[in-house]
Amino acid sequence: MRVGMGYDVHRLVDGRPLILGGVTIPHPTGLAGHSDADVLLHALADALLGAAALGDIGAHFPDTDEQWRDADSIDLLEAVGEKVRAEGFRLSNVDATVALQQPKLRPHIEAMRSNVAAALCIDVEQVSVKATTTERLGFVGQEAGAAAYAICALDRA
Ligand code: MG
Repeated sequence: MRVGMGYDVHRLVDGRPLILGGVTIPHPTGLAGHSDADVLLHALADALLGAAALGDIGAHFPDTDEQWRDADSIDLLEAVGEKVRAEGFRLSNVDATVALQQPKLRPHIEAMRSNVAAALCIDVEQVSVKATTTERLGFVGQEAGAAAYAICALDRA
């Protein structure tokens, strides 16, 4: 059994869609980034890469590469899942927490879990997505950005 962790942060800005776990969530601000800035999927991708000791998402999908501009992070997560499987690993489970002050994410959690499960070719029961505010403390609480934490477990296929 191998475990990996991932962490990501993106700024919240005007004029961008808020996309989390592949779900576009109605909100006045969205996450800024070279890709679609899906902070949850980026943290999950880094957790998978970490468990397989395959580097990080920045090495595989550099933000200097025009190929990844406005990329759909579901595609990035799918590609990471393929890399991990190609190394002979099987995904046991993933678990993630999104830290966001607003809006409430509960209505979207099941759709996020389904998207992640489909991208990684695993069952929804193997995917946990949680959400928290930070009680108005720090950059998340001030609504300057969002953070995501993820962990995963792999075993040998
Ligand atoms: Mg990112």
